[in-house]
Amino acid sequence: MALQEIRDRISKACDSSGRAAESVQLIAVSKLQPDSRVEAVLEEGHRVFGENRVQEAAGKWPAFRQRYDGVKLHLLGPLQSNKARQAFELFDVIHSVDRPKIAKAIARLADEMGHCPNLFVQVNTGEEPQKAGVMPDDLDGFVAECRALGLPVIGLMCIPPVDEEPSLHFALLAKMAKRNGLEGLSMGMSGDFEKAVAQGATHVRVGSAIFGARDYS
Ligand SMILES: *Cc1c(COP(=O)(O)O)cnc(C)c1O
Repeated sequence: MALQEIRDRISKACDSSGRAAESVQLIAVSKLQPDSRVEAVLEEGHRVFGENRVQEAAGKWPAFRQRYDGVKLHLLGPLQSNKARQAFELFDVIHSVDRPKIAKAIARLADEMGHCPNLFVQVNTGEEPQKAGVMPDDLDGFVAECRALGLPVIGLMCIPPVDEEPSLHFALLAKMAKRNGLEGLSMGMSGDFEKAVAQGATHVRVGSAIFGARDYS
Protein backbone atom coordinates (compact mmCIF):
# COMPACT_ATOMS: atom_id res chain seq x y z
CA MET A 1 0.00 0.00 0.00
CA ALA A 2 0.89 3.67 -0.15
CA LEU A 3 2.69 3.65 3.21
CA GLN A 4 5.30 1.18 1.99
CA GLU A 5 5.75 3.12 -1.23
CA ILE A 6 6.43 6.33 0.71
CA ARG A 7 8.90 4.51 2.98
CA ASP A 8 10.69 3.18 -0.11
CA ARG A 9 10.86 6.64 -1.65
CA ILE A 10 12.32 8.06 1.58
CA SER A 11 14.95 5.30 1.62
CA LYS A 12 15.88 6.04 -1.98
CA ALA A 13 16.12 9.77 -1.28
CA CYS A 14 18.36 8.98 1.71
CA ASP A 15 20.56 6.72 -0.44
CA SER A 16 20.95 9.45 -3.05
CA SER A 17 22.28 11.89 -0.51
CA GLY A 18 24.36 9.38 1.44
CA ARG A 19 22.12 9.41 4.49
CA ALA A 20 20.94 6.50 6.62
CA ALA A 21 17.25 5.69 6.09
CA GLU A 22 16.74 5.78 9.87
CA SER A 23 17.80 9.41 9.96
CA VAL A 24 14.37 10.44 8.65
CA GLN A 25 11.15 9.99 10.64
CA LEU A 26 7.97 9.64 8.65
CA ILE A 27 5.04 11.44 10.27
CA ALA A 28 1.78 10.18 8.78
CA VAL A 29 -0.51 13.21 8.77
CA SER A 30 -3.98 11.87 9.59
CA LYS A 31 -5.95 15.12 9.85
CA LEU A 32 -9.42 14.97 8.28
CA GLN A 33 -8.98 11.32 7.33
CA PRO A 34 -11.65 8.72 8.06
CA ASP A 35 -10.87 6.38 10.95
CA SER A 36 -10.82 3.37 8.63
CA ARG A 37 -7.82 4.76 6.70
CA VAL A 38 -5.96 5.63 9.89
CA GLU A 39 -6.65 2.19 11.25
CA ALA A 40 -5.25 0.56 8.09
CA VAL A 41 -1.96 2.43 8.61
CA LEU A 42 -1.89 1.47 12.31
CA GLU A 43 -2.47 -2.15 11.29
CA GLU A 44 0.57 -1.90 9.01
CA GLY A 45 2.59 -1.17 12.13
CA HIS A 46 3.11 2.56 11.69
CA ARG A 47 3.00 4.50 14.96
CA VAL A 48 4.02 8.11 14.27
CA PHE A 49 1.16 10.43 13.33
CA GLY A 50 0.57 14.14 12.87
CA GLU A 51 -2.55 16.20 13.49
CA ASN A 52 -3.30 19.87 12.90
CA ARG A 53 -5.91 20.56 15.53
CA VAL A 54 -5.92 19.76 19.22
CA GLN A 55 -9.71 19.31 19.17
CA GLU A 56 -9.72 16.83 16.31
CA ALA A 57 -6.87 14.83 17.84
CA ALA A 58 -8.68 14.72 21.19
CA GLY A 59 -11.70 13.24 19.44
CA LYS A 60 -9.94 10.32 17.82
CA TRP A 61 -6.55 9.44 19.33
CA PRO A 62 -7.42 8.37 22.90
CA ALA A 63 -9.47 5.50 21.45
CA PHE A 64 -6.74 4.48 18.98
CA ARG A 65 -4.18 4.60 21.78
CA GLN A 66 -6.23 2.16 23.82
CA ARG A 67 -6.03 -0.32 20.97
CA TYR A 68 -2.49 0.28 19.68
CA ASP A 69 0.66 0.60 21.80
CA GLY A 70 3.46 3.00 21.17
CA VAL A 71 1.61 5.72 19.26
CA LYS A 72 3.55 9.00 19.00
CA LEU A 73 1.53 12.09 18.13
CA HIS A 74 2.91 15.27 16.62
CA LEU A 75 0.99 18.57 16.65
CA LEU A 76 1.61 20.36 13.34
CA GLY A 77 -0.99 23.14 13.41
CA PRO A 78 -1.15 26.39 15.35
CA LEU A 79 -1.44 26.19 19.12
CA GLN A 80 -3.55 28.62 21.15
CA SER A 81 -2.47 29.11 24.74
CA ASN A 82 -5.92 28.10 25.98
CA LYS A 83 -5.43 24.72 24.29
CA ALA A 84 -1.90 24.20 25.58
CA ARG A 85 -2.93 22.04 28.52
CA GLN A 86 -4.90 19.70 26.31
CA ALA A 87 -2.02 19.62 23.83
CA PHE A 88 0.30 18.54 26.65
CA GLU A 89 -1.94 15.58 27.41
CA LEU A 90 -2.14 14.42 23.79
CA PHE A 91 1.06 15.24 21.96
CA ASP A 92 4.62 13.96 22.20
CA VAL A 93 6.02 16.65 19.92
CA ILE A 94 4.82 20.16 19.00
CA HIS A 95 6.04 21.62 15.67
CA SER A 96 4.37 25.04 15.81
CA VAL A 97 6.03 27.07 18.57
CA ASP A 98 6.22 30.56 17.09
CA ARG A 99 5.70 33.31 19.66
CA PRO A 100 6.73 34.29 23.18
CA LYS A 101 3.21 33.98 24.56
CA ILE A 102 2.94 30.31 23.62
CA ALA A 103 6.54 29.59 24.67
CA LYS A 104 5.76 30.99 28.12
CA ALA A 105 2.50 29.05 28.38
CA ILE A 106 4.39 25.84 27.52
CA ALA A 107 7.12 26.63 30.07
CA ARG A 108 4.52 27.13 32.82
CA LEU A 109 2.83 23.83 32.01
CA ALA A 110 6.18 22.03 31.86
CA ASP A 111 6.96 23.27 35.39
CA GLU A 112 3.59 22.17 36.64
CA MET A 113 3.49 18.76 34.96
CA GLY A 114 7.16 17.86 35.27
CA HIS A 115 7.47 16.93 31.60
CA CYS A 116 7.34 18.67 28.25
CA PRO A 117 6.79 17.57 24.65
CA ASN A 118 9.80 18.05 22.37
CA LEU A 119 9.44 21.26 20.42
CA PHE A 120 10.12 22.61 16.97
CA VAL A 121 10.10 26.34 16.27
CA GLN A 122 8.08 27.13 13.16
CA VAL A 123 9.76 29.60 10.80
CA ASN A 124 7.87 31.65 8.20
CA THR A 125 10.68 31.27 5.65
CA GLY A 126 8.60 32.91 2.90
CA GLU A 127 7.71 35.86 5.16
CA GLU A 128 4.06 35.46 4.17
CA PRO A 129 1.79 37.79 6.16
CA GLN A 130 -1.03 35.26 6.57
CA LYS A 131 1.22 32.39 7.62
CA ALA A 132 2.23 31.26 11.11
CA GLY A 133 5.87 31.10 12.13
CA VAL A 134 8.65 33.31 13.41
CA MET A 135 10.11 35.70 10.83
CA PRO A 136 13.67 34.67 9.84
CA ASP A 137 15.18 37.84 11.32
CA ASP A 138 13.59 37.14 14.70
CA LEU A 139 14.52 33.48 14.84
CA ASP A 140 17.85 33.51 16.69
CA GLY A 141 16.45 35.75 19.42
CA PHE A 142 13.36 33.61 19.79
CA VAL A 143 15.34 30.36 20.03
CA ALA A 144 17.50 31.98 22.73
CA GLU A 145 14.35 33.04 24.58
CA CYS A 146 12.96 29.49 24.45
CA ARG A 147 16.23 28.11 25.75
CA ALA A 148 16.26 30.65 28.58
CA LEU A 149 12.82 29.31 29.55
CA GLY A 150 14.34 25.80 29.66
CA LEU A 151 12.22 24.52 26.76
CA PRO A 152 13.34 21.37 24.89
CA VAL A 153 13.64 22.88 21.41
CA ILE A 154 14.95 20.15 19.10
CA GLY A 155 14.63 21.78 15.69
CA LEU A 156 12.94 24.04 13.17
CA MET A 157 9.85 23.55 11.02
CA CYS A 158 8.66 25.30 7.85
CA ILE A 159 5.89 25.21 5.26
CA PRO A 160 7.23 26.83 2.07
CA PRO A 161 5.03 29.18 0.00
CA VAL A 162 2.99 27.14 -2.50
CA ASP A 163 4.30 29.00 -5.54
CA GLU A 164 8.02 28.89 -4.79
CA GLU A 165 10.72 26.26 -5.19
CA PRO A 166 10.63 24.42 -1.85
CA SER A 167 14.31 23.42 -1.97
CA LEU A 168 15.35 27.04 -1.43
CA HIS A 169 13.23 27.22 1.72
CA PHE A 170 14.47 23.85 2.96
CA ALA A 171 18.08 24.95 2.46
CA LEU A 172 17.40 28.21 4.31
CA LEU A 173 15.80 26.33 7.20
CA ALA A 174 18.78 23.97 7.39
CA LYS A 175 21.15 26.91 7.52
CA MET A 176 19.19 28.59 10.30
CA ALA A 177 19.06 25.35 12.30
CA LYS A 178 22.80 24.84 12.00
CA ARG A 179 23.51 28.40 13.07
CA ASN A 180 21.42 27.79 16.20
CA GLY A 181 22.91 24.39 17.00
CA LEU A 182 19.65 22.55 16.28
CA GLU A 183 19.57 19.11 14.66
CA GLY A 184 15.88 18.63 13.91
CA LEU A 185 14.43 19.71 10.57
CA SER A 186 10.69 19.22 10.11
CA MET A 187 10.14 19.87 6.43
CA GLY A 188 8.67 18.17 3.37
CA MET A 189 5.08 17.13 2.63
CA SER A 190 3.45 14.84 0.04
CA GLY A 191 4.60 16.90 -2.94
CA ASP A 192 8.17 17.62 -1.91
CA PHE A 193 9.44 15.26 0.80
CA GLU A 194 12.24 13.88 -1.37
CA LYS A 195 13.60 17.39 -1.91
CA ALA A 196 13.37 17.95 1.84
CA VAL A 197 15.34 14.76 2.54
CA ALA A 198 18.01 15.96 0.09
CA GLN A 199 18.29 19.16 2.16
CA GLY A 200 18.59 17.29 5.46
CA ALA A 201 15.02 16.80 6.75
CA THR A 202 14.89 14.68 9.91
CA HIS A 203 11.05 14.65 10.01
CA VAL A 204 8.85 14.60 6.91
CA ARG A 205 5.10 15.23 7.26
CA VAL A 206 3.20 13.23 4.67
CA GLY A 207 -0.59 13.12 4.55
CA SER A 208 -2.45 12.71 1.28
CA ALA A 209 0.28 10.61 -0.41
CA ILE A 210 -0.29 7.98 2.30
CA PHE A 211 -4.01 8.25 3.06
CA GLY A 212 -5.47 9.72 -0.12
CA ALA A 213 -7.20 13.10 -0.53
CA ARG A 214 -8.66 14.72 2.58
CA ASP A 215 -12.39 15.33 2.93
CA TYR A 216 -12.89 19.04 3.61
CA SER A 217 -16.67 18.94 3.24
C1 LIG B 1 -1.68 18.88 6.17
C2 LIG B 1 -0.26 19.12 6.53
C3 LIG B 1 0.75 18.26 6.06
C4 LIG B 1 0.51 17.11 5.11
O1 LIG B 1 0.14 17.59 3.86
P1 LIG B 1 0.09 16.61 2.56
O2 LIG B 1 0.26 17.53 1.43
O3 LIG B 1 -1.24 15.96 2.60
O4 LIG B 1 1.19 15.65 2.69
C5 LIG B 1 2.03 18.50 6.50
N1 LIG B 1 2.34 19.53 7.33
C6 LIG B 1 1.40 20.37 7.79
C7 LIG B 1 1.78 21.47 8.71
C8 LIG B 1 0.08 20.20 7.39
O5 LIG B 1 -0.84 21.06 7.83
